[in-house]
Amino acid sequence: MLSFSELGLSDQVIKAVANMGFEETTPVQEQTIPLALQGKDLIGQAQTGTGKTAAFGIPLIEMIDLDSETVQGIVLTPTRELAVQVAEELNKIGGFKKVSTLPIYGGQDIERQIRALKQRPRIIVATPGRLMDHMRRRTIRLQTVKMAVLDEADEMLNMGFVEDIETILQAVPTERQTLLFSATMPQQIKILAQRFMRNPEIVSIRAKEVTVGNTEQSYIEVPEKQKFDVFCRLLDLQAPSLAIVFGRTKRRVDELSEALSKRGYSAEGLHGDLSQSKRDSVLRQFREGTVELLVATDVAARGLDISGVTHVYNFDIPQDPESYVHRIGRTGRAGKSGLATTFVTPRELGLLRSIENITNRKMIRKPIPSSIDAFKGQQRIAIERILRVAEEEDTAKYKTAAEDMLEEADSVTLLAAALKLLTKDTDANPIVLTEEAPMRSRAPRNPRNAAPYMGRHKPHTGRHPMSKPRP
Ligand code: ADP
Ligand code: MG
Repeated sequence: MLSFSELGLSDQVIKAVANMGFEETTPVQEQTIPLALQGKDLIGQAQTGTGKTAAFGIPLIEMIDLDSETVQGIVLTPTRELAVQVAEELNKIGGFKKVSTLPIYGGQDIERQIRALKQRPRIIVATPGRLMDHMRRRTIRLQTVKMAVLDEADEMLNMGFVEDIETILQAVPTERQTLLFSATMPQQIKILAQRFMRNPEIVSIRAKEVTVGNTEQSYIEVPEKQKFDVFCRLLDLQAPSLAIVFGRTKRRVDELSEALSKRGYSAEGLHGDLSQSKRDSVLRQFREGTVELLVATDVAARGLDISGVTHVYNFDIPQDPESYVHRIGRTGRAGKSGLATTFVTPRELGLLRSIENITNRKMIRKPIPSSIDAFKGQQRIAIERILRVAEEEDTAKYKTAAEDMLEEADSVTLLAAALKLLTKDTDANPIVLTEEAPMRSRAPRNPRNAAPYMGRHKPHTGRHPMSKPRP
């Protein structure tokens, strides 16, 4: 993924994007922004939540000529929530350049909109119906528009806006640049593109590239109180060679890493309250493989690039789908497969569904592993060790002793004893962690946050924030 500074953007936009917390481009941004900057018409198709707004927003802001006070860009969106949301994002991207964007939508007092239009916004983000109202009243003129964007084009077509879109585009000078973004690409869009775009370049990002990679995702429903014991069993069963375990708070990370160490796992905690040298040493040990389990908060793990992580455990479910994608992006990298398991308490199941919506993947429900499963897992590891040594290593030095032992007892009993010695005892002393309050799919604070909790299939509402696979 490219950084934004590699795209040849103005300093003002680079600064704005950095302020928004974007570190690198998403795939759709990486591929569309350079084309749009060259003035090409383009069609961008990528799943919801992949950053399509900035993909058109950045070239749109770059194209605005501040010396001219006219409206130079229009963005059409299917709903008013989206109009508001897109305008917000454009105002952020254009913040340092001082490009102002105005949302215009049905249901809002038209007189107020007319007053706002007098402030000379350079960009208007509108729902088609209300924009046409203004065109009829001549309170918005589109003769000066240089770039037209159709956002969420599939939704607009679903909502029957096709004629409105045609009317609007006919009012925009033909030498404009036209960008079309959509999550899906039905035939109708291609027809629209043929009529209103000039040799559009088509950028299509396949779904699996944008989110969760090769990671197999599953979840286990487990009451808060049982989490730790279930987790230990799961570790025994899966025997990860290098795993990251996510806890919700710093206290949680401390308690969990201590408890794991007490039970004999090789675990260390990582969070922001640790000294820099402590963090460095924990990370070094983890990279070297001397520590097998890295227990971390979201913040501490953000941006970590560690190869060879085989398992990610969400001991606590992340607060929002974005963090989920960040977390599991720690495994399954570079074409390797990984395994992500999320613990969900019964009250957190709604949150789990919203994560499934944003990643567009179902998580496999797994049963709570029993202590017998855990025991078998550990036994399997002991057996594998014995077989590997028998096959690959020179055991000649031990053979006389083995023969002597066979005089004392039969071979099955002796092998069973050796297995017992090599199998980790999974019955352990009880450990109680301080409980974390369950996460709930809380009511959204603003329209942007509303997004993840609405299904894509509910028409005309769902808009999911996104995250990149690797920050
Ligand atoms: P889409 O239109 O494809 O559904 P959005 O443009 O609404 O997706 O973006 C979803 C979320 O991702 C927003 O919160 C946005 O601010 C954020 N986002 C966009 N680009 C990036 C990036 N490069 N890095 C991090 N976050 C990003
Ligand atoms: Mg969008």
